[in-house]
Amino acid sequence: MRNCRRIDFTIPEVQGRKVQIGSRTYIIVAHKPREAESIILQLKYDTPLTRLITMASHDPLVRAWCFLSYERLAEESNIKLPVIPTIRKDSIEIKKEKIQHVAERTLKEVETIMNIAWSSFSKAISDLVREYMRKSEKLRHERGKKKEWLFNRLMERLEYRISCEIARHKDEIERFYNFMEAWGLSFVETIRITEIHSVLSELLENFEKIKSIYEHMADAICAKQITALEIQELLSKLEESGVLYGIIITSVCLMPSCRFNVTSYNIVEFPQKCPFCRGENMLNLFYAWIQPDVKNAWELGLIPEMVVAYMFYDKDWVKSVYLHKALQQLIDSSTSSVKLDVIIFTKNGKVIVIEVTTHRDESVIMRSIERKVKTIQESGVCIDALFYVTSAPFQRYFQYIEEPFSVWILGRRHLAKLDEHIEYILKKQQLL
Ligand SMILES: [Zn+2]
Repeated sequence: MRNCRRIDFTIPEVQGRKVQIGSRTYIIVAHKPREAESIILQLKYDTPLTRLITMASHDPLVRAWCFLSYERLAEESNIKLPVIPTIRKDSIEIKKEKIQHVAERTLKEVETIMNIAWSSFSKAISDLVREYMRKSEKLRHERGKKKEWLFNRLMERLEYRISCEIARHKDEIERFYNFMEAWGLSFVETIRITEIHSVLSELLENFEKIKSIYEHMADAICAKQITALEIQELLSKLEESGVLYGIIITSVCLMPSCRFNVTSYNIVEFPQKCPFCRGENMLNLFYAWIQPDVKNAWELGLIPEMVVAYMFYDKDWVKSVYLHKALQQLIDSSTSSVKLDVIIFTKNGKVIVIEVTTHRDESVIMRSIERKVKTIQESGVCIDALFYVTSAPFQRYFQYIEEPFSVWILGRRHLAKLDEHIEYILKKQQLL
């Protein structure tokens, strides 16, 4: 089934698995701690994680999504993603400015009323409860009827006290009411404007970060820009496969004097045009929860390596693929083991390693690749090629070193045709 391809990448044997490649003998062992192994086990079943990885292995846009780190997209089990590919920052600034007054005033008034309500009502309640306790203590030998009368009497007095408090603060409440009337807004509308204001403020603060997410996705599908429709399709797929759930979409018209906003709970279509003013400046804010297994895999950085393992699993030149394992070689005595993301044994007796990262900072990537090459060399394990697949905006992929084994670095622009690029390089290097 194309929607869910179940593959068993686990190694249940504690002592590891022996693999013979030509004259070389390797041992493959599961990583310690075994937390990752229990997530990898999910891929044996039809789970949201398996569906996500299956999709990403053949759909470049889902793959682009998978190569974004958890920190970049998510927070505390949920995703907040404003759909902004064609939206200009200044239109958000103008809209925010336009609703600033109502939002600030509402916040102030509601705060005053809440303070009044809290202090006066809580005093009324605590006074009466104290009195009730005192009186009911005196009535402890009395029959039920008298106690019931006492309770009803107290409730009546509580209602009276509250109505007195409301009357006492009539001016403050009326002032807010007049303000809403002057703006032609209902109470719900004023609260909603306050919410939208805070959402726009947050969006402006994070504008560059969100823009960089869309740049990543556009690059990773080899496009100049990603469209709102493509994002809608991507999010729909993630929802249908159970990766995301509990969806809320708030759509706000960014035309300065238009008040249209609506909240929906499923992705049918992101509104592109405002039904109120017909303007085409709609901001759609997407919120959703992430399925727990996907979240765990994502946080551990396992998703990109899972995608790559799936992409190469059934290539006709591949003998076997191992995901997130430690590799050891048996020479005279065994070498020390080295942790690798994806290990591919080819039918023509080669060992190809693919390391993946959601990092995009060139210096971080270079440091990490140097460390990896050194670890492999020091372990004594013999491999034929190492590919380092990153989320960096490299224009071209390039060979980093030739010896002791060939190392190539690829960026997000190469994700869409990752398998083709790697096959091309391997053939050019006469490794295939
Ligand atoms: Zn509008």
